[in-house]
Parts: sequence; C-alpha cells; structure tokens
Amino acid sequence: MRLKGKIALLTGAGSGIGRTTAELFAREGATVIVNDIDEAKGLETAQSIQASGGSAMFLHADVTDPGSVRMMVENAIQAYGRIDILFNNAGISGVGAIHEIEPEAWDRVVQVNLRGVFLPSKYVLPYMMERKSGNIINMSSCIAEIGLARRASYSATKGAVLALTKSMQVDYAKYNIRVNAILPGTIMTPFVEQYLQSSYDDPEAAIAAIKTRQLSGHLGKPEDVANGVLFLASDESSFMMGSPLYMDGGVVFG
Ligand code: NAD
Repeated sequence: MRLKGKIALLTGAGSGIGRTTAELFAREGATVIVNDIDEAKGLETAQSIQASGGSAMFLHADVTDPGSVRMMVENAIQAYGRIDILFNNAGISGVGAIHEIEPEAWDRVVQVNLRGVFLPSKYVLPYMMERKSGNIINMSSCIAEIGLARRASYSATKGAVLALTKSMQVDYAKYNIRVNAILPGTIMTPFVEQYLQSSYDDPEAAIAAIKTRQLSGHLGKPEDVANGVLFLASDESSFMMGSPLYMDGGVVFG
C-alpha cells in the first residue's frame, strides 16, 4: 500500500477524475477527505469508499469561497489532526474565443480553476509548514502547453495553475513540501461529455477528431490520471518538485 496511514484531501472528488482518485487513494491505504460543491455526489463517493472497506469522510465546500474552504480545512484538521496530501482537482470547463466570452463567464472559470487552487492551498499550507511535511498536486491540463480552438478562459487558467505550481514549489521546498502538477489530455468524464454536447453539433465527430490528435489513438480514462496522481502523492516521486506530469496519450508531443 503506497499511501498507508496518509490523510488526503481531494477537491471536486464527487465525480470523474477526483472520484476515481479518491477510490484509488483509499485502496492504497489513505484516509480520504472527499470535497465537492455537490453534496449528493460527494456523499456518494465517500459512502462507496466506506462500503468497500476504505476510510473516507465527505466535507462540503465551494473552493471559490474563503469561509467555506477555511471551515472545511479546520473540520478536516479537527477530525484527523493533519493533512498529508492535497489534490486540488475541482474545475469547470470554459468554451469560447475571447470575443465570444461574457466577462461573468470568464470570471467564473478563473474563480473555480485558479482561485480554487489558491484557497485550499492557502488554508492547508500552514498545517503542512508546521509539520515540515506535505504533498500538493494541482490539476492543470495538457491545454496549458498546446493551443486549442475556443478554449481561451480554460487554457488561461490551466496554464496559470502550472506556473503557480512552480512558484509554490519554490516557496515551500524549505518546509519539505512537494508541489507538482498533473496535465491530462482528454479523459472521458461527465465534464467532457457535457463540454462535447454543448459545444458541437456532432459530438461523435468531435471525439473522432480528438482521437486523431492523440498518439494513443484513444481517449483516456479517469483511472489513467488517478494512477499519475497516486505516483505524485507517493514517495516514489520524491525527486519530483514543481514538475508537470503529462497523462495525455501523447497529445502534447504529437
Ligand atoms: P467532473 O465534472 O467529472 O468533476 C469535477 C468535480 O468538481 C465535480 O464533482 C464538481 O461538482 C466539482 N466542482 C466544481 N466546482 C466546484 C467548486 N466550486 N467547489 C468544489 N467542487 C467543485 O470533471 P473531471 O473531468 O473529473 O475534471 C476534474 C479536473 O480535471 C478539472 O479541474 C478539469 O479541468 C481537469 N481536467 C479534466 C480533463 C478531462 O478531459 N476530463 C482534462 C484535463 C484536466
């Protein structure tokens, strides 16, 4: 078990990559704190982990709201005394070229995808600094490295998360805290299904086009990304600091 005895907080873990990662962490011996803004989905994840013999609790919070995030972190600390691993995973999609995006829609993507990394980190870091130990994994995307049509707000936030990861690593290395980023390609989750349905007249043709851009020839599964996050969360990656881990089926280099 690679995370035996670890306490891990995962944001946006009620669905998709976050949920699959929470389940994997629990199987690897971690106690997982499942966060989501969607109470029903978050509770379901925690309960399904408990039903399979894992250790989990659900804590509701909106990662864009400082009061809500602070309370989540305080409740987690009260329950377990520490947080060893923070996976800043919660995120939303954003579609459109700059001239098509309303300012409010731009702000919401920035709030969830960037502020949603800043706030959980801000409130968890003091506890990690005090213990001189911690591991933070930030959810970026391969879109941080490549240009894709009509993804202006989304790519801006994921590029920013990668830059923030490097900056955080420099600030917190002296506290024995590692900070790395994971950069998935297109992974079939509710997030991607919704994006494809709302953005394309023919979602099947869009999926076929995405596949041709990937050296793998097929889309990823949440498990593919979860395995990468597990590697970053474990001591096996102990020499990785401030680094991007691509989990994209070869889209960046294709
Ligand atoms: P998903 O929609 O299945 O899961 C995202 C979860 O985040 C949902 O349960 C949602 O309720 C939660 N969430 C949204 N806003 C929140 C908020 N304000 N506070 C707390 N929770 C909130 O999506 P997914 O595909 O699993 O995506 C997870 C992360 O992976 C996102 O950051 C996404 O940008 C990133 N990502 C996904 C892909 C992909 O192809 N699926 C590729 C690269 C990066």
